[in-house]
Amino acid sequence: MSVLTYKCPNCGGYLVFEPETQHYTCPYCLSDFAQTELDTATSESEDIQDTEENTQEQEGQVLIYTCPSCGAEIATDTTTAATFCYYCHNPIVLSGRLSGEQMPSLIIPFQISKEEAKKRFLSWIGSKAYVPPDFYSPAQIEKLSGIYFPYWTLDCTLQADMHATARNVRIWHSHDIEYTETKTYAIHRLGEISLTELSRNALTKSQSKMLEGILPFDLKKTCSFHLGYLAGFQAEVKDIEKESLLPELQEEINGYAKSLLSDTLASHQHITTDSFQTYNAQHIWKYLLLPVWILTYQHRSKTYYFAMNGQTGEICGRLPLYKRKLFFTCAGIFVVVTALITLIGGLL
Ligand SMILES: [Zn+2]
Ligand SMILES: [Zn+2]
Repeated sequence: MSVLTYKCPNCGGYLVFEPETQHYTCPYCLSDFAQTELDTATSESEDIQDTEENTQEQEGQVLIYTCPSCGAEIATDTTTAATFCYYCHNPIVLSGRLSGEQMPSLIIPFQISKEEAKKRFLSWIGSKAYVPPDFYSPAQIEKLSGIYFPYWTLDCTLQADMHATARNVRIWHSHDIEYTETKTYAIHRLGEISLTELSRNALTKSQSKMLEGILPFDLKKTCSFHLGYLAGFQAEVKDIEKESLLPELQEEINGYAKSLLSDTLASHQHITTDSFQTYNAQHIWKYLLLPVWILTYQHRSKTYYFAMNGQTGEICGRLPLYKRKLFFTCAGIFVVVTALITLIGGLL
């Protein structure tokens, strides 16, 4: 399988993708390249270092690659498509992991830089009480990782058909007589419904709650997939196929379709649905990589995390509680409450 590093045309150092400028920079000579400049440069010379490596499989799960820069061995999971060499820290793209069925059609490149992500993490932590300080120590914050995660999106068009019965009741009085009028309607609603951009996480080992908690991405701003966007980040490929997501998504779609048709019955009273069905569903699936900043923290065998949408900055997190601080505050409240009760007791 091929191992890629993007080389600087000026000095031969490795290039990384820079979210703030959407350009590539060289950390050694500080050169800056737009995608088009790099495309011209790489067509003229061999600036993408591409090595065919013999990969070894260990216990069926971990694969070993050789770093093109220093020759060290790099172990990866079978879903990892971009990572760093642990020794020379050069960014490495495992291009073979992104071919064929595993080739995403679209990507949203990172828009938020690591520095910006750190700032937002600290201000988010600042708004929470009782978090243990080692969760946000400088050494811990340095572990904040930019990872492209695989997602599926589904656009669906379908016909929905609903039969319902409504009873509208009107009551009025004239002299001493009460009149009741009941009108019964047989209602038929038929509609074509389009739903777009229903998104699902496509990686088993990731925590779905975390990755679905930072949705939505602005999918209008996707780009065609290009391996260069992965330079300097980590990336994972999918191991959940669309077929396994369809039953759950179809149920969600039917729920939306039913509520859209029901919304048209608002002028009626006492509605009972007699039948509801959908048919002619047309599905358009897209497999894409989306940017997420992640920080995880192990505490008493539990994993806590901070995740931030690398495009919009939306945050989702599960935080450890700082028990000692919490106890002091609770004790404080208890003392105040006791003092108040005593005071009120004294007044009575
Ligand atoms: Zn350079
Ligand atoms: Zn290396």
